[in-house]
Amino acid sequence: MKRNTESNQYEITKCNPWFFWTECFFCNHEFRREAGWRFSLQTGGGQLQYSHSCAECSKTKQHLEGNIKTFLSRKPKAPQATPRKP
Ligand SMILES: [Zn+2]
Repeated sequence: MKRNTESNQYEITKCNPWFFWTECFFCNHEFRREAGWRFSLQTGGGQLQYSHSCAECSKTKQHLEGNIKTFLSRKPKAPQATPRKP
């Protein structure tokens, strides 16, 4: 049995907020009455956090996955122990 954890880890679903303004995770603009995406992100504490993306920032599911990966790679890494001086 095989599974591709890369493409399953964000739990991406379509959303279409009709009544409530929903903030886009990438451009920080709020949107409603238009299609967008909802996805989960693992936070530092290991908890799942749900965020949204507007259709302008992420045109397709693959595009959104790319955006998330870019975001995660930009995130500052956890502080490491100070390297010992020679
Ligand atoms: Zn956006």
